[in-house]
Amino acid sequence: MHVVFGHGGFRGQQAEIVSHVIAGGDAIVLMPTGGGKSVCYQLPALARPGVGIVVSPLIALMRNQVEALRQLGVRAAALNSSLDAAERSRVRADLRGGRLDLLYVAPERLVSPDFLALLDEVPIALFAIDEAHCISQWGHDFRPEYMQLAALGTRFPGVPRIALTATADPQTREDIRRRLDLGVARLFLASFDRPNIFYNIALKSEPKKQLLAFLKTHPGESGIVYCLSRATVEETAAWLRAQGINALAYHAGLDAGMRNRHQDAFLAEDGIVLVATIAFGMGIDKPDVRFVAHVDLPSSLEAFYQETGRAGRDGQPAETLLLYGLHDVTLRGRMIDQGDAPDEVKRVERSKLDALLGVCETAACRRRAILAHFGETPPVACGHCDNCATAVETWDGTVAARKALSAMLRTGQRFGVGHLTDVLLGVATEKIVRFGHDKLPTFGVGTELDRKAWASVFRQLVVGGIVAVDHAAFGALCTTPLSGPILRGTETLRFRRDRPNPKSTALKTTDRAALDPATETIFEALRARRKHLALEQGVPAYVIFHDSTLVALARSRPRSRAELEAIPGMGRSKIERYGDEVLAALAQGTAK
Ligand code: ADP
Ligand code: ZN
Repeated sequence: MHVVFGHGGFRGQQAEIVSHVIAGGDAIVLMPTGGGKSVCYQLPALARPGVGIVVSPLIALMRNQVEALRQLGVRAAALNSSLDAAERSRVRADLRGGRLDLLYVAPERLVSPDFLALLDEVPIALFAIDEAHCISQWGHDFRPEYMQLAALGTRFPGVPRIALTATADPQTREDIRRRLDLGVARLFLASFDRPNIFYNIALKSEPKKQLLAFLKTHPGESGIVYCLSRATVEETAAWLRAQGINALAYHAGLDAGMRNRHQDAFLAEDGIVLVATIAFGMGIDKPDVRFVAHVDLPSSLEAFYQETGRAGRDGQPAETLLLYGLHDVTLRGRMIDQGDAPDEVKRVERSKLDALLGVCETAACRRRAILAHFGETPPVACGHCDNCATAVETWDGTVAARKALSAMLRTGQRFGVGHLTDVLLGVATEKIVRFGHDKLPTFGVGTELDRKAWASVFRQLVVGGIVAVDHAAFGALCTTPLSGPILRGTETLRFRRDRPNPKSTALKTTDRAALDPATETIFEALRARRKHLALEQGVPAYVIFHDSTLVALARSRPRSRAELEAIPGMGRSKIERYGDEVLAALAQGTAK
C-alpha cells in the first residue's frame, strides 16, 4: 500500500474491501466522495493475476485516473473514443500481451462484441464498475449503456465484480444490486459524513458582496461557485474578476473550446475560482478544491450534498457556503410545479427540496440534519458547522405569524410578501390605497418588526408549510391546513433569527494557514517547483503531489531518500521520479 500509493495505511473499510475482493468476492461499495474508493479496486487489481477492467462513464475522469496511476508506476491505460486508431491498437496489443495492470473503458465499448472477444483471451483480475448509480433511473445521471453490464457476471464467471458509487439513497442502492445482477455481493456502506467540510448557510442579502467576503478568506485557493443560471454565472465571474479574483466562467452555453480551456485551467492550476452552473462537476476529481459556494439554492439535499462534496476530497479542511432567501424557495418550488414531470416524481422532488430547506432553517447542527436524511444517527452537535460554532438565536414567533396570516386572509390571499409587509407596517402606498387596504384592522399592526424581519417571518412560514405560494397567481401567499392551529392559538412557533454574514473559520482551520512563516516559505517554494513539473509534463499539479504532501514535506523537511519514505504521498515511484528534486528544493529552502 505505501510502496505504490504512498498512503500511511488503510482508511475506513478499505482494508476489508480490498481483502474481500482479492479473495474473489463481489462487492457493492457506497462511500462518500473523497472516501477513497479507487484504492478498493486498484489494489486488488494489482494483487490478483491479470488485468483489472474499470468501467467509467467519463473520458476526462479516465484520463486523470490513468495519469495519476502512471505517476505511481502502475501500468494503466484507457480505451475510449478520444483515442485515434493507432493508439487504440497499441492499447489492445498491450492488453493482449499482458502488459497492463489496469484498463479504463467506457461502458459501451466494454460490451461491444469484439472487445468482449478480446477479453476472452486474457486473464482478468476483476471488473470495477465506477459511478455505479448511472444504472439507476432514480439518479439524475442515468446512462442506458450501464444496463448491459449485467451480462458480465455470466460471461466471466469467477471474476470478481465491484460496483462503486457515492450516491446513497436506498432506491439507487437496490437498483445497483438488481440491475448489475450482484445478488450476493457484500455491501460496504460507509458513513456519508465529510468531517473535514465546514458548512455555512446564510441568508442572501447582497450575494456578490457576501461571496467576495467568503472568497477573501480563501486567498490563492481553488474553489467552485455554483449559480443557477448562465447569466448569473457570467455576471458573477466578471464582477469577481473586476475585484481582483482569478475567476473563470463555465456553463453549457459557452463554446466547447472555451469551456474546456476553463475546465483544464481549473484542474491544472492553483487558485482558480470556477463560477459555474451545475453543468460543471460530475466526474471532476480535483482533490484540492478548498471551497464550494452556492449563490443560489440547489434543487435538493442530494444535489447540495454532491455539489459541496466536491470540496476537500484530499481530506484537508474545506469550507462551503450556501446563500438563500425566500426568492430561492419560491423559484425552486415553481420549477418543480411547472415542470413536466409526472405527479409522483414532482412529489419526490418536492420532498427532496423540503429536506434541503429543513437543513437551511434548522437552528441545530447542519451536519446532523444532513446525515439524518441519509439514515444515519450522528452526534447532536458536530462542532464544525456555522450553527455549532455560533449558537442560533430563536424567538417566539407565534404572534407575528398570526399577524402575517391575518394580513393574508384580510387581503383575500391574492398578494405577495411586499404588499403584505406594507399592510403590516402601515405604509400607504398607491396600491394599498387603491385596494382600500389602509382601512383594514391589520393595517399597521406589525411595526414592532422591520421589513427584513417580516421577510424572514414569511420565508420561515413558507418553508414550514404554514403558508403556500400560489405560482399560478404570481406568487400570492395563501393559507394551508397548518395555518389553522396558529390562527386559533393552539400551536406556538419559534423562528430563527437570521444571520446574514457567516464568520468564516477557514483561516483558522486549514493546515496551510497554520504553517509558521519559515515553513510557509518552504511550502511556497515546493509549490512553485510542483507547478513547474506539472507544466513540463502537461498534467494537473495534484497529480504530481497533493497539497497535504507538500505541507508534510515543508513541516518535516526530510534530508534523505529514506526520510522521504515516511512522508504521506511519497511512494516508490514518486521518490524515484521527484525525490532528488524535492530534496534539492528543501535543502535550498532551509539554507536561506
Ligand atoms: P473517491 O473516488 O472515493 O472520491 P479517491 O479514491 O479519489 O476517492 O480518493 C480520495 C483521495 O484520498 C485521493 O486523493 C487519495 O489519494 C486519498 N486516499 C485514498 N485512500 C487513502 C488512504 N488510505 N490514506 C491516505 N489517503 C488516501
Ligand atoms: Zn454542527
